Amino acid sequence: MSAPDLTGPDTGRPLVFRGGTVLTMDASSTVLTDADVLVVGDRIEAVGPALEVPAGTREVDARGGIVMPGMIDSHRHMWQTAMRGYGTDWTLTQYFVWYYLEHGKKFRPQDIAAGNRLAAIESLDAGVTTTVDWSHNLQTVDHAEAALDALRSVPGRFVLAYGNIQAGPWEWLADPAVRSFLERLRDAGDDRLGVQIAFDVLGDPEFSERAAFEVARELDIPVTTHAGVWGATSDTGIQQMYDGGFMTPETTYVHASTLTRDSYQRIAATGGSISVATESECSAGQGHAPTEQVLQYGIPVSLSMDTSVWWSGDMFSAMRSTLNADRMSEHMTAHLQGDTITHLRLRAKDVVEWCTRGGAHTIGRDADLGSLEVGKKADVVLIKNEDSPVSFPLLNPFGHVAFQAQRGDVHTVVVDGRVVKSDGKLVGIDLAPVRAEIENTIDHLREECGEEVWQAGMFPEMPAAEAAILENPYQYSDFKDESKRAGGEGRVLGR
Ligand SMILES: [Zn+2]
Repeated sequence: MSAPDLTGPDTGRPLVFRGGTVLTMDASSTVLTDADVLVVGDRIEAVGPALEVPAGTREVDARGGIVMPGMIDSHRHMWQTAMRGYGTDWTLTQYFVWYYLEHGKKFRPQDIAAGNRLAAIESLDAGVTTTVDWSHNLQTVDHAEAALDALRSVPGRFVLAYGNIQAGPWEWLADPAVRSFLERLRDAGDDRLGVQIAFDVLGDPEFSERAAFEVARELDIPVTTHAGVWGATSDTGIQQMYDGGFMTPETTYVHASTLTRDSYQRIAATGGSISVATESECSAGQGHAPTEQVLQYGIPVSLSMDTSVWWSGDMFSAMRSTLNADRMSEHMTAHLQGDTITHLRLRAKDVVEWCTRGGAHTIGRDADLGSLEVGKKADVVLIKNEDSPVSFPLLNPFGHVAFQAQRGDVHTVVVDGRVVKSDGKLVGIDLAPVRAEIENTIDHLREECGEEVWQAGMFPEMPAAEAAILENPYQYSDFKDESKRAGGEGRVLGR
């Protein structure tokens, strides 16, 4: 099957959004009403009221709508979008067993490509202009090439975070072919395609991951790591990273849920970012989203959706679940002490910031992404849906984005100055061949699994007795983390 290429030519005409409520997401989170945003080439040329524009500028009527920077998802396993919704009722343990121990190896390069392409298109549709593809099933360089080709075939902005759960990171990063792939990406100078290295630190006293960090340092490529995941990664991994000098401002700590104070202090002191994936943390069991801790320690934060094997790639959902989880925790903590919360600590403005300029900071793009400011890259989203009774009155713009809007209200999306969604429809993207390649992948997985195993994986039975698996398993390590057995109250509560 030939892979669909969705990157056709663009008209290149200047574009102006007229008369919208503009959330600039600049350092002061300035909101402008009845304002314009002018895009020329790949840049934001001007922001303000009644702008003069070049002759031939295309006009988008933004009246009644919200113009904001493109959203940024700092952690999504895009290859898993091929199995959208399959793991709806999974725990994290069931996820690990399915992908890490039993069936992840069944993915061929074309299956990685199929998931990536669908996830990439879904991002654009939802106004997510940049997505970090936490691609941790790159069993061969052919898989990596397929992942990359798929991302390049969609006119969004992506960061390929290279990973491979089927082997230890010290093993696959020793492969010259992997290193040359990474160097090629690093040196490509493609600002629509960044690169990171993705692996976890399991806390084994041998700290074999040290060699992987050394390769990342030598290649000068940032590391993204699932940290503070209940039953998988803990304070020990943070301690090992810290002692090795591997905690840098470029490092992303995904989840960072079940850690103690010392670890948050180390993250804060070394300047890395936490990627909060609240919807995932609520359902899968990594631990509570560490929103209280990022506020307390002043840690840079971005939001992420993790994987569409449970949830769709939709930052409205990320913002909503993050506000809800933080507020639930704040209320409940007070109630247990007989107190009442009268003023909420986490505001809608905060979560809008986290999924725009926060995301830009996490991927090292503060200078040119994450806000609508003159000279920055033109990644712009218009939220507007005149047919929707939820579109008015528009009184509290941050609240509207976080609690009222949804992906169907994403009217226009611009990436790098190019219109990729217009009037609520994706531009130049035909879903038919994308659906066909996904069907091919599902047929393949289903056949390899056999129908009984396939169905049982999707609808896990309620066990009669306590589940047998106590640790979350990794294919490449039989290390068992004992730290959670002795109460572990501090880790649970992040204190
Ligand atoms: Zn993840």
